[in-house]
Amino acid sequence: MSLTISQIRANTLRARHLYQRTRRQGFAVGAFNIDNQETLIAICRAAQKLNSPVLVEVSDGEVKAIGLENIRDMVDNYKDEYGIEMYINLDHSPSVDDCKRAIDAGFEFIHIDISQANHDATTEEIIEKTREVVEYAKFTGALVESEPHYFGGSSNVHTEGIDFEEIKKTFSTPEGIKSFVDATGIDTFAAAIGNLHGKYPVPKVLDLELLQQLRDVSDVQISLHGGSGTPLHYFEEAAKIGVSKININSDMRYAFRKTLEKVLAEHPDEYAVVKLMPEVYGEVQKVVEEKIQAFGSAGKSVV
Ligand SMILES: [Zn+2]
Repeated sequence: MSLTISQIRANTLRARHLYQRTRRQGFAVGAFNIDNQETLIAICRAAQKLNSPVLVEVSDGEVKAIGLENIRDMVDNYKDEYGIEMYINLDHSPSVDDCKRAIDAGFEFIHIDISQANHDATTEEIIEKTREVVEYAKFTGALVESEPHYFGGSSNVHTEGIDFEEIKKTFSTPEGIKSFVDATGIDTFAAAIGNLHGKYPVPKVLDLELLQQLRDVSDVQISLHGGSGTPLHYFEEAAKIGVSKININSDMRYAFRKTLEKVLAEHPDEYAVVKLMPEVYGEVQKVVEEKIQAFGSAGKSVV
């Protein structure tokens, strides 16, 4: 069932209020990727148990796997069933057209990422396409997120270490955030302060002093991508400084796959795999709960 434009606008207004609450109350909301229904169930259960608002997010590949309208419907059905505050974020969309389709489908949050789709994209091109999405989103009130450069890593389990000196070259700067926000009119800036997509054999290190500088020069909402494998104390401090949204993917995927492999090995004669899934999403739920606690969003839901 498609949402009406007034339902979509009511949802985006609630999403904007949520971001205001993150700033006033010093917490961040988790944006958790899904690529199947079980992972969505895990997120819903964690959100309900901890009374936390959550964003469910889907990348381009995840949209193709599940379908844009199916994602909207599943999230709306579970939102009602669990009585939780939940929104959808389009994560790392490679094109303006894909963003427009998600805005039409009623996604409350849109992340346009031209530089990841094309590493050679010029600043002018990134600004122009981001502005086009910002303008289109005004019809529904969807919040638009972007960043001026390619973001490091990939959402997977990495065996190599982190080259911290190389990563530092891609960090956001106070001048950069200000000029990009002024040029594009985005709602949310995806900051690079040591956060990196994926899970690595060494813990990530976030530059919280830089985060504070970014916070001081702009009033834009700030998001952190690549939250997996980050010591939890960083999240607590980042939320207090003024980060509104933190993305989590790899830690959940890791729990999903490892638990699935374990239960399949333990039940070699069970072909109704659905019977084995509660243990799998139970482990993913634990990951989501741990992040919610660290982000400070437990008890912050308004439904
Ligand atoms: Zn990301």
